[in-house]
Amino acid sequence: MGAETYLRSILKDYYNSVEVTTVPDIRSREFGFGEFGKKISSRHLTFSDNKQLNFFLRERTPFYISYSNAHYEFPDRRPMEKKILLGADIIYEFDADDIETECKLSHDSWVCKSCDAKGKGNLERCPECGFGVKVEEWVCPECVGETKKQTQTLLKILEEDFSFNDGISINFSGSKGFHTHIRGDNIQSLSKAARLELLDYITATNLDLKSLGFVYSSKKVFHCPKKNVAMGWSKKLLDGIENLLDEGDVSKISAMASRNKHNVTEGTVKKLLKEKQNIMSGMERGFLLSLPGFKADRFWESVLKYIAEEKMLGVDRQTSIDINKIIRVPNTIHGSTGMNAMELSREELPSFDALKETVVFSGEEVRLMNVTTPKFYIKGNWFGPFTKEEVSLPKYVAFYLLSRGNAELGV
Ligand SMILES: [Zn+2]
Ligand SMILES: [Zn+2]
Repeated sequence: MGAETYLRSILKDYYNSVEVTTVPDIRSREFGFGEFGKKISSRHLTFSDNKQLNFFLRERTPFYISYSNAHYEFPDRRPMEKKILLGADIIYEFDADDIETECKLSHDSWVCKSCDAKGKGNLERCPECGFGVKVEEWVCPECVGETKKQTQTLLKILEEDFSFNDGISINFSGSKGFHTHIRGDNIQSLSKAARLELLDYITATNLDLKSLGFVYSSKKVFHCPKKNVAMGWSKKLLDGIENLLDEGDVSKISAMASRNKHNVTEGTVKKLLKEKQNIMSGMERGFLLSLPGFKADRFWESVLKYIAEEKMLGVDRQTSIDINKIIRVPNTIHGSTGMNAMELSREELPSFDALKETVVFSGEEVRLMNVTTPKFYIKGNWFGPFTKEEVSLPKYVAFYLLSRGNAELGV
């Protein structure tokens, strides 16, 4: 049996044992599905209800199934304009590929497409010849954990700054991160431009300090919003300063303030930290403290910019503003991993171990050949590394490696 047939039989068993009911307002959505090795091979499908969708999953058994964030009057019509848009959810996607983490040095690897160079880690160009490289990406609890943290920050912003509490649904992407669907009535008719504005706000892109109330006046006073009335990003930046003062990490503060060719010695920072109470009461009254012989304008500007950068979210920009996107149906299988794109509650998120809890296939042993992998984590265990080995591994690992092309089915 070939890998594709084998994997499809596992998927079929799975869809025969579950009922997928995660798509709200199913009649107005466009669906697409994908085959072995191709995430979307067909689009513009519709289902009138969950029963029809589940019948399709059992009979046709696609490797991937996606649905539109948009609602349409005629979701199967083509071209897109003929579908007649009724509204669209917003989807924020965090993917481990888009976030820099140290773990990539241990599990990702690259080979140059031109010369013989290769190495560990994730980069775009060959350091030897400058040509593009081919990267083999893996995930681990650290990088997926980072996407979880960012999702939690996003949810906090949505709740605190926009009071978006209802109509929010979270799911694992099935592979490298998390999707947050916002489905409330208040966002359905937002234009692409408004979605972009919202995204920029959430991700702190192009943050303008002046318009947030941080202004260095001609009288050499650095004005800021009064702390007890500040809102949104003004508040987040002031909170960031307060955190810095509480941490009291002298070398960190001097490093962040010393950017833009402006050198701030650790001695200056120590002096400043002694004034912590005065800085705090200054922020209550609407200014950032200055000291004699200290360039308050450059210092505070560098610090504020640094705080904003630290709070930037690595969200996938295209997914967030696209109105005609199709995205994985929650609680279906991602065909490149065999993991469930599991829906979960906000309360479950902090302790959710995605690479463990979304594994749905059994541990029955499967004989594999030519297994080549770095050390990797799945369902709470570490496996490998392997180099062209013949080994018996649990079915859920077999699905993961066969679908990625890191192993062949044994005979
Ligand atoms: Zn090269
Ligand atoms: Zn990792």
